Amino acid sequence: MSATSLRRDLISKPIFRWAQQVLPTLSDTEREAIEAGDVWWDADLFSGNPDWAKLLAVPPATLSPEEQAFLDGPVDELCRMLDEWRISWELRDLPPEVWDFLKRNKFFAMIIPKTYGGLGFSAYAHSEVIRKLSTRSLTAAVTAMVPNSLGPGELLLHFGTKAQQDYWLPRLAEGKEIPCFGLTSPEAGSDAASMTDSGVVCRGIWQGREVLGIRLNWHKRYITLCPIATVIGLAFKLYDPDHLLGERNEIGITLALVPTSLPGVDVGRRHLPALMVFQNGPTTGRDVFIPLDHVIGGVAQVGKGWKMLMSALAAGRGISLPSLSAAGTAFAAHTTGAYARIREQFHVPIGRFEAIQERLGRMAATAYLLDAARRLTCAGIDHGHKPAVVTAIMKEQATERLRMVANDAMDVHAGKAVQEGPLNYLGGFYRSVPIGITVEGANIVTRSLIQFGQGAIRSHPYLLKEMTALEDPDRARGLAEFDRAFWGHLGHSFANAFRAWWRAWTGGVFAPAPATGRTRGFYKQLGRYAAAFALAVDMALLTLGGALKRQEMLSGRFGDILSELYLLSAVLKRWDEEGRQRADLPLVAWCMEDGFATIEARFDAIFANFPSRPVAWFLRWLVLPFGLRRRGPSDRLTRACAEILLTPSARRDRLTVDIFHGIGDEGLARLERAFELTVAAQPLRDRLHEGHARDVEKARQEGLINDAEAQQLRAAAAAVAAAVAVDDFAPEAIAPRQAAAEPVAAVKWNLFKRNARPAASIAGRR
Ligand SMILES: Cc1cc2nc3c(=O)[nH]c(=O)nc-3n(C[C@H](O)[C@H](O)[C@H](O)COP(=O)(O)OP(=O)(O)OC[C@H]3O[C@@H](n4cnc5c(N)ncnc54)[C@H](O)[C@@H]3O)c2cc1C
Repeated sequence: MSATSLRRDLISKPIFRWAQQVLPTLSDTEREAIEAGDVWWDADLFSGNPDWAKLLAVPPATLSPEEQAFLDGPVDELCRMLDEWRISWELRDLPPEVWDFLKRNKFFAMIIPKTYGGLGFSAYAHSEVIRKLSTRSLTAAVTAMVPNSLGPGELLLHFGTKAQQDYWLPRLAEGKEIPCFGLTSPEAGSDAASMTDSGVVCRGIWQGREVLGIRLNWHKRYITLCPIATVIGLAFKLYDPDHLLGERNEIGITLALVPTSLPGVDVGRRHLPALMVFQNGPTTGRDVFIPLDHVIGGVAQVGKGWKMLMSALAAGRGISLPSLSAAGTAFAAHTTGAYARIREQFHVPIGRFEAIQERLGRMAATAYLLDAARRLTCAGIDHGHKPAVVTAIMKEQATERLRMVANDAMDVHAGKAVQEGPLNYLGGFYRSVPIGITVEGANIVTRSLIQFGQGAIRSHPYLLKEMTALEDPDRARGLAEFDRAFWGHLGHSFANAFRAWWRAWTGGVFAPAPATGRTRGFYKQLGRYAAAFALAVDMALLTLGGALKRQEMLSGRFGDILSELYLLSAVLKRWDEEGRQRADLPLVAWCMEDGFATIEARFDAIFANFPSRPVAWFLRWLVLPFGLRRRGPSDRLTRACAEILLTPSARRDRLTVDIFHGIGDEGLARLERAFELTVAAQPLRDRLHEGHARDVEKARQEGLINDAEAQQLRAAAAAVAAAVAVDDFAPEAIAPRQAAAEPVAAVKWNLFKRNARPAASIAGRR
């Protein structure tokens, strides 16, 4: 008997039996979610010893000349056509010419290949389009985003039959069809697989002939673009009581294309998500008959809907919402820095107050970090990955960080951003934050269950292999596989325990790091935390087994650590890619210090709450031997980051690159003009200050400044007054509905009437 078989029979076998009881078992939907997509940089982080050369070798995300031309051409032109105030409060929809422009220029077909008449854009180009549009109009951005993310287009591309692709993709590309995707129903939100929407296989009449098909009944809600959609990508549970397709009674979740013109389909009513007016609404279907060839992928794909969905989400989740969030963060940093520079209180620009700088510093660094992570994620997707864990991290972290930055921006602008009206350039972002938090997997569940719960299984080098082996119906084969994976796992755990201990006790100075100059030390620290993370994960799995799934507070903290490791990797990569800009080092250092403090705080909380106390003590001794050493960015560093937003410079432009700037006399344009004039007039103001003169006229008379300089100061003051102005309205414009005199106000208040049918002007089909 060989040593391997002795080991397998004497040691692995009892462990195999024990593990079958303690390791988490997977439901079918969990397994399908875990099998969707692939692993990428997350697997390196889980290994405890990330290969930095691999990260630095990922080619940067770039645009082709054609993609760049689209951004400079149609995207710019579209931005100029958009007036978010008019869209939101007067029209309650995009104007017809904008709908037409979107369709004509194929904004709904960015992911559809050119062979089908689409634009065939890369993930990065798609992200850049959404990013720029988001800084102009969230209504337009969400409208363009939806047909390019999870929905009929994406599903047809990956799973459609040739005939379906040939018919539907050109129509979608030309804008002849407006798609939506219906998954969520009143009873099934986060637990979407529990839907009661049903399809029954039966015979029915289709275009005058009797065919095999499906009779559908559904009630979906919250569906974006549904009120104006011509085709719904519908998720439902398929049943075959008469066994027309085979032996199975319950076939499972299935996806089909349902034209909204069919008898029994009800669309048109609208929700008002956070008072935003992108098209969103419920739909019901009563005994709607479709032929079987409307199932996406045909009969071969019946019952495989969940897997298809998870696979489409694996990449898509990393593009749309992270792009919108990165845009919102850059926009908030840009405007808030400018506002803090022009707005004075107590005769000082508010940006000079430390408490304001605390917020500005955080905003600047967050803008740097989110865009770094967006670019890295797009680069990964463009190189063929579908990194489900990374994209879940991006979705959750980007939207959460946008929430923090939106709060900061509102607090710094104070009344200026609270008062709604055409001059308010921040209100829409602030109101929209909970939408991003909620959709594509609400953040609480994403943080605890997807990032870490599924992440631990799929990104871990051995766990999925072990779990698969444990569930193998062929016991002998299962045991052999388990034996291999288990001993590999054991070696991995010991190596990580040693690594984590050595790196923690030596402050990470001996951890491997690439020669990247000033950021080298940060790589070492990240390597130290990655080893600690991998070890703590193994200990949690060993001591908690399947119970870890229910310990959502613990897994949420593990999710936070993994997220920080990913985001900080992206920051280091961005710094390197952008030519190691010395001027950006404060931003890099701020992100690192903040992230390290979060990582240590989460380890601390994990150890404090770890059910097995001896293991917790051991881990603490190993990983945090000197307690919490990282306290976050210093005040000096925060001040340096804040300064970046307060003064025009190339590094400020790098942070806010490609946002759409204000035009005409709108609020954003007023702010940008005031910022420019205020900065230009600063030397004159300094001269006045040194001469103890507060009044421009007096200073001119005393010869401190000449006529032209006085004029420059007056122009700057006028620009500031215009920028800090807010809107007010005639009382009748916001009067109660009964007293409303103006048609605009009538439309506005009509919407609040319970069960009001939408007026044609706010829900017209196109
Ligand atoms: C504006 C908007 C647009 C949308 N567009 C679409 C669309 O086009 N198509 C579509 O199909 N759907 C769409 N949705 C639906 C969206 O995907 C759901 O809202 C989302 O899945 C959450 O469902 P829910 O709102 O019912 O929340 P619930 O599922 O009721 O969740 C409530 C809270 O409980 C938490 N939670 C749930 N389960 C757990 C758990 N196991 N552990 C910890 N926490 C948990 C959630 O994180 C959340 O915080 C849209 C929603 C909105 C608001």
